[in-house]
Amino acid sequence: MTAVAGTVLVLNSGSSSLKYQLLHPDTGEVVHGGIVERIGETDVPDHKAALRLVFDEFAARGLDLTDGAGTPAGIAAVGHRVVHGGRSFHAPTVIDDHVLSEIRRLSSLAPLHNPANAQGIEVARELLPQVRQVAVFDTAFFFDLPGAAATYAIDRELAQEHALRRYGFHGTSHQYVSEQVAAFLGRPNAEVNQIVLHLGNGASASAVRGGRAVDTSMGLTPLEGLVMGTRTGDIDPGLVLHLGRSLGMSIDEIDELLNRKSGLKGLAGENDFRALGALIEAGDEDAKLAYDVYIHRLRRYVGAYLVDLGRVDAIAFTAGVGENAAQVRADALAGLEGFGIVVDPERNAVRSGEPRRISPDDAPVAVLVVPTNEELAIARDAARF
Ligand code: ADP
Repeated sequence: MTAVAGTVLVLNSGSSSLKYQLLHPDTGEVVHGGIVERIGETDVPDHKAALRLVFDEFAARGLDLTDGAGTPAGIAAVGHRVVHGGRSFHAPTVIDDHVLSEIRRLSSLAPLHNPANAQGIEVARELLPQVRQVAVFDTAFFFDLPGAAATYAIDRELAQEHALRRYGFHGTSHQYVSEQVAAFLGRPNAEVNQIVLHLGNGASASAVRGGRAVDTSMGLTPLEGLVMGTRTGDIDPGLVLHLGRSLGMSIDEIDELLNRKSGLKGLAGENDFRALGALIEAGDEDAKLAYDVYIHRLRRYVGAYLVDLGRVDAIAFTAGVGENAAQVRADALAGLEGFGIVVDPERNAVRSGEPRRISPDDAPVAVLVVPTNEELAIARDAARF
């Protein structure tokens, strides 16, 4: 069987889901992909059963992932998306027992994500023992953030002892998109200063100078920064104290509130941007306020990163909202002509799956829409070894 030769299986294990994609790292051609959802709630009891299901599905399509495993006829590698790399991992890493236990140990920093990632790795190693398994970390691109951007102004000793710093997430996407931007502009990555706005269910912004991240909106956890589908983004930490002290909420209740019942969902009852748009059109005032808060926060970060970078060559929008919601792009950058930032309404209205420019050709700052592709980036990282 040669159909799978040279492909990479990319696995993204969430707490109750397993996303998978088998693809060719060179061309990006996807052989097959999908998602197993509601693991633990259905007849799929755990990630092991989920991955077995995935293998069966591939087999039903005439693709045997285990056949020729570890030989040139088989798949080249398995790439695992791992959310938190802590202080331990700054680059894609071949997984051995030590790496796996370190990923598990980092669960204290990412309790919702790392345990699921570790489980996915464990199962994949068991089912494909001869195939190289590579961990690609969501935090890696931000590992070298300058101290001023990475440091919380809290007790230094406490922070050092417990690895409390701003880590940043969505790094695979920010790195991939920033490389695409340089390629689109036909300039060396090392010469391009840019702001990347990854706007999906989760959302984050980054400032990238010459290919290196110099600031990002997410912090110790993916809760900081922009307003998201169900997460608050930036709030006064005093609010957390108040919720506990004056309202008597437990840590778990506050966690649930800030991570799952806030953001657009908390403000308007809807976390999906399309549904939010429909509410706004129907005259719903909560939805309109939610949108305004979202845009206001986004513009703050654009402003901060303009100043961070000093000279900005490009601003790139990516992920579900960034790639599709033209109104968000227009509103996020409205009135910034004085900074060389202009969005052309006609270009902005064009729908396409390709990287494209939505600013006039002669505008000083190139405003771009660049589709992200985290699976391809992970596959390339995994195939590189
Ligand atoms: P995730 O963070 O789960 O990977 P995505 O990057 O897929 O999320 O983004 C999901 C978000 O993109 C949702 O809020 C969805 O409503 C929004 N979205 C997708 N398509 C459109 C569209 N055509 N117009 C506006 N928003 C869209």
